[in-house]
Amino acid sequence: MALSRSARLGALATAAASFLLVAASSAPTPGADGIGDTYFPRLGNGGFDARHYTLDVVYNPDTDRLDGVTTLTARAGQNLSAFDLDLQKLDVTRIEVNGRAARFTRDGDEIHITPRGPLARGKDFTVAVTYGGVPEALNGPIVFGSDYGWMKTPDGVFVACEPNAASTWFPSSDHPSDKATYDIRITAPKGLTAVSNGRLISTRDKGANTVTHWREGRPMATYLATATIGKFDVRTGRTPAGTPIYVAVDPVLANSNSVDVYAVTAEATDYWSQVFGPYPFEETGAIVDDMPQAGFSLEVQSKPAYSAVRSESTIVHELAHQWFGDSVSVERWKDIWLNEGFATYAQWLWAEHKGVRSAHDSFVAGYNQRPADSAFWQTKVADPQRDTMFASAVYQRGAMTLQMLRERIGDTAFFKLLPAWTKLHRYGNANTAQFIALAEKISGQQLDDLFQTWLFTTGKPAL
Ligand SMILES: [Zn+2]
Repeated sequence: MALSRSARLGALATAAASFLLVAASSAPTPGADGIGDTYFPRLGNGGFDARHYTLDVVYNPDTDRLDGVTTLTARAGQNLSAFDLDLQKLDVTRIEVNGRAARFTRDGDEIHITPRGPLARGKDFTVAVTYGGVPEALNGPIVFGSDYGWMKTPDGVFVACEPNAASTWFPSSDHPSDKATYDIRITAPKGLTAVSNGRLISTRDKGANTVTHWREGRPMATYLATATIGKFDVRTGRTPAGTPIYVAVDPVLANSNSVDVYAVTAEATDYWSQVFGPYPFEETGAIVDDMPQAGFSLEVQSKPAYSAVRSESTIVHELAHQWFGDSVSVERWKDIWLNEGFATYAQWLWAEHKGVRSAHDSFVAGYNQRPADSAFWQTKVADPQRDTMFASAVYQRGAMTLQMLRERIGDTAFFKLLPAWTKLHRYGNANTAQFIALAEKISGQQLDDLFQTWLFTTGKPAL
């Protein structure tokens, strides 16, 4: 069969028109410069999904200089003509996309990257960023006025980045909603130990340095990554239930520490595995460093980092975060009570488990010690605002909310809800509405009034 000349032209015209339509609907466009978090509008990036980071970091404690290459494998979520990564202050010398040099410009904390050709929706691509400089710790009201991020210590560096400091040491899509797996290779002078997330793959000498390779094989939020370097005494083994454990303690703290970090970490990892569901990561542990300027500890994935604060109660808090925060991560920072309220409630559960005090009594003590006109009651827990996202109410009133929930729905439903939550959103992200929905589903009760009162309303609730 042969088409007539006019039919052929008609068919060509139709084909051309449909091609134009397809092209118009999928013309490559730039990804957004943020994921739309109201607290940090330009953190994270639109148009792609980060899947795997390979971080190569060379650090010299004498000069405080970091030289790095970050290779990110990402999947395009749209036809991309350009996209952003987040990086604060450090200099970028070269960027390659799929192995070919790409143009880039800097705009504040954004790197705007234009590959040679568009990146197709649904396809993986790699972006390799060569960068360096002297990282600066962040400071400000968010983390109680403490320094955080990349913090120099007497013998190296202590790296704890919640909420927005990962991009001070590696280019990334720096938001917890864009989790990825990691290979982290740290080059540091011989004699120092480099501690990071997941499992230790190898250490090898290279000239005057040691290259230490860690692999986090489970999805991780950027702020939970670390490359802590210094003199450490390392103890490894397994918890009684069999989870590998790696505990690094700065030797200058060996005798000043009243709590046995290794023993408590092992015990709490196993206990929380019974209460919250299977331990989500390949290894548990701790990093205990001499960093008094950091007025906090952080639930670094698989190895919480402890500085000035390292009591038994803090350890059980940070380990509870491995489920609440690390495995199940916030979708937006305003939901931070899903991390801190739960980890604080875990401290109450630990005291109950140890026969020290019931969670009910912890609730009553916290409730009674704060008069109705206390500023404490003026934080809206489910949206505490950026500069007060770590306000004590997020922790304490968050935990009170969970005790109120437990007393409403009963222990059976409550202790079914916790592991159901960690299972449903394992390695993912979640929000407050999803927690309320699951609590209602498991209890079979309408719970809007309880959550409205405790999470979304300011003022001291009546009992
Ligand atoms: Zn916490």
